[in-house]
Amino acid sequence: MATVTLQDIRKSYGPTEVIHGVSIDIADGEFVVLVGPSGCGKSTLLRMVAGLESVTSGTLRIGERVVNDLEPAERDIAMVFQNYALYPHMSVRNNLAYGLKNRGFARAEIDRRVAEAAAMLEIAPYLDRKPGQLSGGQRQRVAMGRALVREPAAFLFDEPLSNLDAKLRIQMRVEIRRLQRRVGTTSLYVTHDQIEALTLADRLVVLNGGVVEQIGTPEEVFDR
Ligand code: ADP
Ligand code: ADP
Repeated sequence: MATVTLQDIRKSYGPTEVIHGVSIDIADGEFVVLVGPSGCGKSTLLRMVAGLESVTSGTLRIGERVVNDLEPAERDIAMVFQNYALYPHMSVRNNLAYGLKNRGFARAEIDRRVAEAAAMLEIAPYLDRKPGQLSGGQRQRVAMGRALVREPAAFLFDEPLSNLDAKLRIQMRVEIRRLQRRVGTTSLYVTHDQIEALTLADRLVVLNGGVVEQIGTPEEVFDR
């Protein structure tokens, strides 16, 4: 676990600045949701934290470490995508194990983490199936399992529920929150859905036109 700190972060694409000096302090174990209309810069901010986009200026810290110039794999974060990003040719078990194998973890440790994540996400019965043999909700659980087994300092969620139907979205929303409380991992979650933001967040960051418009607990943000 760790804090995540964005300090006066700016991003330009060519001559156009799209993120205009954003500062956010995420406490250890806190669940922060970035919410705002399409095009406000949510995904750009998240991708900068992940290391998938460069930071034009400002300082990005995970724990005490400045990570501006670190590769994604060096940042001790795990990201959950809306398109699941599962390997279609691999079993669920291998999808979960793959990142750990690449990082040179011992077999016993991999088996322990995979079993633990599978139990927590209730996907143990499907470990030998391929992603194509799973429902949308089960695939989303596997995607979360891949983040979980890494035991990272922070989770980054990029609209992870937007491909699910309304009923499943509500169910998974509850489960994501329960799971995060249980493991206590610092989380930054992006959504354009206000209800989702309200339900999930310890604190909300409302982004508009590349600046922070409001920041506070759901009560503070929605009560005005
Ligand atoms: P959101 O995730 O809130 O929908 P984005 O972070 O995707 O917003 O986009 C923020 C702004 O940055 C938008 O104006 C978008 O057009 C612009 N933008 C995003 N990616 C690029 C890119 N690769 N090149 C140029 N402009 C971009
Ligand atoms: P892991 O080690 O978490 O299993 P991979 O080795 O499959 O992840 O992927 C390495 C990195 O590639 C990820 O941490 C992420 O930064 C990037 N990546 C994977 N899937 C996607 C995607 N669907 N969109 C954008 N980036 C992705």
